[in-house]
Amino acid sequence: MKRQKSFEKENAKLYLVATPIGNLEDITFRAVKTLNSVDIIYCEDTRTSRKLLDHYKINTKLKSVHLFNENEISQEIIRTVKEGLNVAIISDAGMPVISDPGWIVTKEAIEQDIDIIVVPGASAGISALIASGITAHPFYFAGFLNSKSSKRRQELKELYNREETIVFYESPHRIEETLKILVDIYPNRKITLARELTKLHEEYIRGTAIEILEVVDSIKGEMVVIMEGNSNPIEEHIIELNELTIEEHYKHYIDSGIDHKEALKKVANDRHISKKEVYEKVKK
Ligand code: SAM
Repeated sequence: MKRQKSFEKENAKLYLVATPIGNLEDITFRAVKTLNSVDIIYCEDTRTSRKLLDHYKINTKLKSVHLFNENEISQEIIRTVKEGLNVAIISDAGMPVISDPGWIVTKEAIEQDIDIIVVPGASAGISALIASGITAHPFYFAGFLNSKSSKRRQELKELYNREETIVFYESPHRIEETLKILVDIYPNRKITLARELTKLHEEYIRGTAIEILEVVDSIKGEMVVIMEGNSNPIEEHIIELNELTIEEHYKHYIDSGIDHKEALKKVANDRHISKKEVYEKVKK
C-alpha cells in the first residue's frame, strides 16, 4: 500500500495538466499558474503547445514525449523530478493519459514515490458525454478503436452486451466505415456524434447510425462517438447465432436436442422475428 499526501511535502512533483480541446480559453487559472511555475513541460508537439503557452505568456522550457517513446522519456522525467525539478506533462489537447502519453510515466513515478498532482480540465470524451443527452453513468470509455476495419468490427461486436453508455474517439477518415459497421451491429441504438467541440464548427449529430451515415460527407474534424448501452443484453452466443442464416440457426438448436417447436420459438426470440418467418424458412 502507498499513501500520497499531495501537499504535505515541499518536494518536486510530477503535474498532469489538462489543456483546452479547441477553445484556448478552456484552461484553468491553476493550469496557467502551474505551467508557469514548473521547470520543464513535456508535451507531444512542441509547436502546438508553444501556441498555447505563447497565448498565456508562459516561457517554460518545452520538451517532447510521444506514445511511442514514452518508455524511454519516462526515465528522463523521473530522473529530472528526483533531481528536484518540477515537471508538468501536457498533451496536444485535453487530459494527458487519456488516449495520450502520460500513463507509463505516472505509473513509474508512483513506484518511485514521486507525488502525482492532477490539474484537471477539459477532456473530449467527458465533454461529449455530458452534452450527448445519453445517460452518463455508467459509461464505458473505449478510447480509439482499432484502425483496421475488420478488427474494429470485432471490437464493436464485443461491446454488444455492455449496458453502459459507450464512448469512443474516431478519426474523420474512418467515421464512414465505422458508421457502416454500427448500422450492421447497432441499427437501433441512439448515437450522438460530437465534433469540433468548443470550436467554431462545433456540432452534435444525434440519431441512429443510419441517419448519421446519411450526412457523413459533412462530418469533418475531431469527433467523439457516444452510443447508448444495451438495455436488454443478450448472451454472447446469441450474437454469433444471429450471424448464421435462419436455417443454420434453427439447425443449431435441433442438433443440440431441442424439439422443432421450441427451436422455432428460440430462433424467433433470438432474432426478434416471428415464428412464422422462421417456419417459412425451415419447412421442408
Ligand atoms: N487527451 C484528449 C482528451 O482528454 O480528450 C484526447 C486525445 S486523442 C489523441 C484525440 C481525439 O480526441 C481526437 O481524435 C478526437 O476523437 C477527440 N477530440 C479531441 N478534441 C476534440 C474536440 N474538440 N471535439 C471532438 N473530439 C475531440
